Amino acid sequence: MQNRQISEAKYSTPIKRKEALKLNELNRRAFIKILGQGSAVLGLGLSSRNTWAQTGSAKAGEKQLETDAAVIGAGPGGLSAALRAAELGLKVCLFEKRDRTGGTFNGGMGPFGAGTHIQEKNGAKNCTTKDAFNYLMDFTHWQSDARLASEYINNTAFMVKWLEEKGVIFSANGGGGPGGDGFMHAISPNPNYKTDAKGMYITMLLTDRVKENKNIEIFMETKVKKLIKTGDAVTGLVALDKSGKEIRVKAKAVIILTGGFMGNPELIKKYTTYTYKKDLFYTYEMPHISGDGINMAWDAGAARSEMMIDAYKGMPIYGGPAGTRNEWVIIANPNLMVNLQGERFVNESADRVYMGNAIHRQTEGCAFLMFDSTIADIYRAKGPGTGPDNAVTIPDVDVIVAEAKKLNYPYLYAADSLEDLCRQTGIDLDTLKKTIVEYNSFCKAGNDPIFYKDASNLLPLSGPKYYASKYCCDSWGGLGGIKINHKTEVLNKLLKPIPGLYSGGSDANSIYAGTYPSHLSGNTTSFAYTTGLMAAKNAAEYIKASS
Ligand SMILES: Cc1cc2nc3c(=O)[nH]c(=O)nc-3n(C[C@H](O)[C@H](O)[C@H](O)COP(=O)(O)OP(=O)(O)OC[C@H]3O[C@@H](n4cnc5c(N)ncnc54)[C@H](O)[C@@H]3O)c2cc1C
Repeated sequence: MQNRQISEAKYSTPIKRKEALKLNELNRRAFIKILGQGSAVLGLGLSSRNTWAQTGSAKAGEKQLETDAAVIGAGPGGLSAALRAAELGLKVCLFEKRDRTGGTFNGGMGPFGAGTHIQEKNGAKNCTTKDAFNYLMDFTHWQSDARLASEYINNTAFMVKWLEEKGVIFSANGGGGPGGDGFMHAISPNPNYKTDAKGMYITMLLTDRVKENKNIEIFMETKVKKLIKTGDAVTGLVALDKSGKEIRVKAKAVIILTGGFMGNPELIKKYTTYTYKKDLFYTYEMPHISGDGINMAWDAGAARSEMMIDAYKGMPIYGGPAGTRNEWVIIANPNLMVNLQGERFVNESADRVYMGNAIHRQTEGCAFLMFDSTIADIYRAKGPGTGPDNAVTIPDVDVIVAEAKKLNYPYLYAADSLEDLCRQTGIDLDTLKKTIVEYNSFCKAGNDPIFYKDASNLLPLSGPKYYASKYCCDSWGGLGGIKINHKTEVLNKLLKPIPGLYSGGSDANSIYAGTYPSHLSGNTTSFAYTTGLMAAKNAAEYIKASS
């Protein structure tokens, strides 16, 4: 996930202001292009294909349909599930509540895969399914559902091949696997799709395949409200179209892929250790990812799986994810980080996902990254990194602070003294002074004997001006909620499959045991594509067996 840092992508499609992730005005200009969330089927409206029998018993103002598989959500998971189910001979109704497909993935970089033909072609080492599985299980201390993890990992090679067959061009694998070679599959531009936002182009491409497929009927701006059960089995769903008309769908199987609960503060508060807008702020707002599928499944008797926030250290909604806007590197550089007590608690150069954990443990789930005017002068002369390669020109830090102040951004501080900085931030002054004395001694010695930060990032603080930025956690999503087994069957509270009900993607992704495994980059979207494909296959087998 370290590769998720996204440059300003140029989208060919317009952004719906309202839905454009409620970005703070401050970073709106920089990120609005990225966050359009795609619109591969903008304007498609409600399907007019009508290949599905309307049943005769519809009430006035109600529409009734019958299909083999109903797929809820047209993100990476839903698009893959719908297409695969259709390839396997099923008639499919695909429901998407927004006016655009692609779900959350339009800003993503590329999927994880293990033992793929791309890795084989590139001669990549340490990227087998066994390597990935062992790494994940060690990483999670076997708290992950090993069978589900294994089935998912073993299916990623098929998923990569399948996406390639659909038209995705994979160029390389990368992203820093544990052994050096990467699990993430980088995507090359496809000349047929004019966008340099990679996730967006997969969305456009899959959406085109869905539109071409006569076995799939897609219902845009149609929100699924609940599932229908007959006895123990799920046999359909109820949706509301744009005009408020109810659509009742009889389906032999239903697949839920609605993207998790990131946009639902109540679910976050109740089932995770975070509180939205207190210690969790989003650069990318996803109000439509509101836990609909999770709630529907629970209402239908599904068991709850582990739920987590896919978090990383981030400055609250400003400066890009974790302050990654180029000119902000000066602020985000790994200088001294302290908590409200004024204590250092982390190697400031650590992976930003894992640093998110460290920050979340601190009082109020926050921390302050500090530097001073002497360091700012060094950066101004040599670039924001201390290494010779770093040639990015940086503006005056006082200009950045002034700009932030003008926009009432509250989490960037400039002070004429440590006393002033502590007054503004609430950091304990006495402890901070001691921390700085100790930290400066490490800098002088070129050795951090506590957290072993690399010497190149050990720059002493001596004033006269001090700067700080507040960090909490930012997030790429909320993961888990619906308990599934390795066949993507949704399980009831006795951990028995609910016949006819399948799920995957972020709604059911509980394989990380609390922390995103950064070394297996591209994992959450890969889980969505792969479990979407798995769910389609398993649903097809179930339908065949029960007919
Ligand atoms: C900025 C950003 C960058 C990211 N980059 C990466 C990356 O590089 N690699 C990676 O692995 N992951 C990345 N992710 C995470 C990735 O986007 C998700 O893992 C992935 O999109 C999950 O796919 P999904 O199909 O499960 O859900 P989603 O993509 O969230 O799609 C769910 C869909 O369901 C629809 N829906 C919801 N409720 C209903 C309802 N009631 N009725 C009908 N439709 C409904 C939603 O509107 C949405 O379109 C990124 C996330 C963000 C925010």
